[in-house]
Amino acid sequence: MKIRALIWVALILTVSTAYATNVLIKNVLVYDGTGKKPFKADVRIQADRIVAIGKNLSPAAGEPVRDERGWALAPGFIDMHSHHDQGIFDDLNAEVVTRQGVTTVFVGQDGESNFPLNDFFAHLEKTPAAINFASMVGHATMREQVMGKDLYRASTPEELAKMQELLGRELDAGAFGISTGLEYEKGHFATTEELVGLSRVAAARGGFYISHVRDEENGVFNSFDEIIRIGREAKVPVEISHIKLASPGVWHMAKTKMPALFEKAHTEGVDLKADVYPYTYWHSTLRVLVTDRDFFNPEKVRRGIEDNGGAANLMIPKYTPEPAMAGKTLEQIAAAWKVTPVEAYMRMIKATESEIAGGEEQEEVIGTSMSEDDVKWFVTSPRTMFCSDGALHGAHPRGAGAFPRVLGRYVREQHALPLETAVHKMTMMAAEQLALKDRGRIEKGYIADLVVFDPATVIDESTIQHPQAAPKGISDVMVSGERVVMEGNVTGAHPGKVIRHAASR
Ligand SMILES: [Zn+2]
Repeated sequence: MKIRALIWVALILTVSTAYATNVLIKNVLVYDGTGKKPFKADVRIQADRIVAIGKNLSPAAGEPVRDERGWALAPGFIDMHSHHDQGIFDDLNAEVVTRQGVTTVFVGQDGESNFPLNDFFAHLEKTPAAINFASMVGHATMREQVMGKDLYRASTPEELAKMQELLGRELDAGAFGISTGLEYEKGHFATTEELVGLSRVAAARGGFYISHVRDEENGVFNSFDEIIRIGREAKVPVEISHIKLASPGVWHMAKTKMPALFEKAHTEGVDLKADVYPYTYWHSTLRVLVTDRDFFNPEKVRRGIEDNGGAANLMIPKYTPEPAMAGKTLEQIAAAWKVTPVEAYMRMIKATESEIAGGEEQEEVIGTSMSEDDVKWFVTSPRTMFCSDGALHGAHPRGAGAFPRVLGRYVREQHALPLETAVHKMTMMAAEQLALKDRGRIEKGYIADLVVFDPATVIDESTIQHPQAAPKGISDVMVSGERVVMEGNVTGAHPGKVIRHAASR
């Protein structure tokens, strides 16, 4: 009887400490998020906080100890542009996110946010996921609320006033500012004045403006001028989403044009930053090729295809009207249909027209349109943070690989930037952009969002063929002190929080 009782006690203890809320982490190299050189230390976690960092901390009676064999310990990574909220309630483990060491995703991007945010946040608090969520308010989401389906025009002053009021309410729910997707149809027809008018509401609450800019191709530098103007006139910090120079006409210009651009912003008193994903190919809808919606104008379609690297460089991972076409390039599809790429494009737009109205038929495109030297420039710039732009079950490998890809390919293989700098950009720099007071650093009193990885082996494994493949070299991930990944295995713990903007707390 006595032995049986002891077994029960042991069993209960094992279960309650399985994901280790209190733990002493020994033998790690601490990259603390500040960007300074790593140091050897032990780190003590109690409940959801870091309570001690020091050399040779001795375990208290009964305190679980984990020896991390000299691997790196960093704050959990923050994904500054994510679509991992879509379908989250069917995939609360968000394995593609946690396995990368990402503990917080910043959603509500490209002009689209969950509406109303209060409902989304309440749902997340009732049914938490493995990861933390922070959100922007989507510009197109507000346009739809106020303008209905009549979105392909500028707003009237009355509509703008309504959107401003609605934006204020959404910000009060805990959002960090406003996001726009100006290359997408729902946002494209907004004037710069509309964007300034809305950004002022965000500025008044200490928020910021983030944007998938109006043109990422030949007109990209005009788009960057527009975002600086919005920052200047609305007196709001601005961030360029997934920054890229996405057409051959502007390739190789990061090195020559970007320093002057950041300097111009600085001179004008604008806090300009950007986020970037480390891939030379993008993933979107075919509609972005013709930004003014004139989809059946052959000359504009021809130019759109050319500006995006040509039909041979546009891969269609999804085309529901004819699933057999998935995985082929636009050039191959045109050949299969015995038409020109311009005609094939128009046929695909026509067949998926209902998608915009929430219909069944869908298309997606992956474009190989960036140059590696530009990506590398953006990855290393002190003005950028990192993002995946990914989704839980997306066709682009970035959703499961962006962060380990930076650590493995850009830090270790190419020596493009020091590991402590990459970690800083993934953690503290992002936390400061969001004005988070207790995340993004390994510091006494901070929330224990943490990742353990091996700098010598960490690498992304996701590819276009296997976009969800797990990365290598990341062993343990903690969210609020609870292990969501333990020794490379997903635990099923769901300690994720809603992170609200300080002004609304
Ligand atoms: Zn985007």
